[in-house]
Amino acid sequence: MEFKGKDLEYYNALMKVRNQVTDQMRYNADTALSSENFEKRGVTTHMADSSYDNVRNEIALRMLSEDGDIVELIDDAIERLANGEYGKCLECGEMIAEARLQARPYALYCIKCKSRQEEMMKQR
Ligand SMILES: [Zn+2]
Repeated sequence: MEFKGKDLEYYNALMKVRNQVTDQMRYNADTALSSENFEKRGVTTHMADSSYDNVRNEIALRMLSEDGDIVELIDDAIERLANGEYGKCLECGEMIAEARLQARPYALYCIKCKSRQEEMMKQR
């Protein structure tokens, strides 16, 4: 897939975030699946009792799934970029502000729709 000009900038921004997230996921997976990190920090394995271990694994796994969501969002965004749909709010169809896309290249909604959604979440 080839992107030009502004699209290429968006693509690069998306891939940059994607790489950061997948690196983080790999780190979290290591944390979840091994106790090496404890030893590295000088904490012996027997000090890490099983309840602490469970909490740690739970946090790491939850982070994994959140990061997985972001990777999905980014892949969707790349697809929209290829279709010429990138940067449009999924709700109102208006262009998402440039500054917002720079902060969150995988944003789905414009700031107006996003804040309306957050308002609705609060009321629930
Ligand atoms: Zn919108």
